[in-house]
Amino acid sequence: MVSQDMIKLGTAKSVIRELAAFGAARSAVVGAENVLDFSLGNPSVPAPKEVQDAIVDIIKNNEPKVYHSYSSGAGHDACRTAIANNLNKRFGTDYTKDNLLMTCGAAASLNIVFKALIASNDDEIMVLAPFFPEYTVWIEGHGAKQVLVPCKDDMQLNVEGIREALTPNTKAIIVNSPNNPSGVIYTKEEVEQLCALLVEKSKEYGHPIYLITDEPYRELVLIDGLEVPFIPNMYDNTVVCYSWSKSLSLPGERIGYVLVPNKVEDKMVMAAVAGAARVLGYVCAPTLLQMVIERCVDVDPDLTVYKKNRDLLYDGLTKLGYRVAKPAGAFYLFIEAPDGDSEKFSEKAKAYDMLVVPGTGFGSKAHMRLSYCVETEKCEKSLAVFEKLMAEYK
Ligand code: PLP
Repeated sequence: MVSQDMIKLGTAKSVIRELAAFGAARSAVVGAENVLDFSLGNPSVPAPKEVQDAIVDIIKNNEPKVYHSYSSGAGHDACRTAIANNLNKRFGTDYTKDNLLMTCGAAASLNIVFKALIASNDDEIMVLAPFFPEYTVWIEGHGAKQVLVPCKDDMQLNVEGIREALTPNTKAIIVNSPNNPSGVIYTKEEVEQLCALLVEKSKEYGHPIYLITDEPYRELVLIDGLEVPFIPNMYDNTVVCYSWSKSLSLPGERIGYVLVPNKVEDKMVMAAVAGAARVLGYVCAPTLLQMVIERCVDVDPDLTVYKKNRDLLYDGLTKLGYRVAKPAGAFYLFIEAPDGDSEKFSEKAKAYDMLVVPGTGFGSKAHMRLSYCVETEKCEKSLAVFEKLMAEYK
């Protein structure tokens, strides 16, 4: 007898996978260039040249055992020191390598942090909708309860809603900004209100409520001058889960980190993070990629295409009468279906070979997610399809 829960997860229908299969089948018939596939969050911008150069240089100038060997569980000192220096320069912090544990991307970082923090089946992890659907799988997989709190209509933080949903069992809240699927960056004012609320409630409950920040999109800010609030500087009990999947376009390479600042009250959190990484069998993050990150941590992503696609789609869709949360980062738009039924809209769009993901799994059936990390030409073509689809609702 194997685990029924795991069978359920392993065989569950995946809307995104089904859309991908549909897209592949249609590509074979009409050509990939004619399928407007907005379903996946796979960066379309190639990894920066510095990354390619670093890989070639590392391989050419080192014995294979240097870049193929295990690193320590936390990761190479030189890599973690380079990351700490980068963060200190940008955010005025005083991190060292000892605040960092290298991981296989944000998915690994989050699972490690959940495993480290969740101590009882009564623990609650608060998730702010719309949200990345894998959170549910991971939180429940680690034996905690997910508590969903919808954001406001503009997809910004609903601090009053969060206040009402907090209980003495609240272990942590996940903050993902820039957000997948909405592209919204939570404002500094609202993040400050959230932090003040958590200070008040942690005191009342007699234990810390952690903020877990999920930051794969931190560097994908599409409005010049806009800053993503750096939450560890605003709230002491913050644990950061980071990844280069999106910022350096390396989703298949699996590289990221967990940051536990010294300000975190419970001094055993980093030890629990190291233990969780062991139990989950991560051993170490890919050594070659750690060496790449050591050299490329200061490289900025090229946002030109994402900015262009965002402007084109946001302006075009709002002109056509679609209601869209104003995206400031990442590469997603969360669009309201004209009649509030995104599943129906996604089906209708397939008739035009356009793939958009219904928002049901992200916490809102009324919205659909559009990943615009695609060629600009496809964004341009899609507006004609959106126009035809809107006409079907009139
Ligand atoms: N968190 C969010 C919000 C994401 O969108 C993703 C991937 O799309 C992840 C985590 C997982 O990222 P990674 O590829 O680094 O594991």
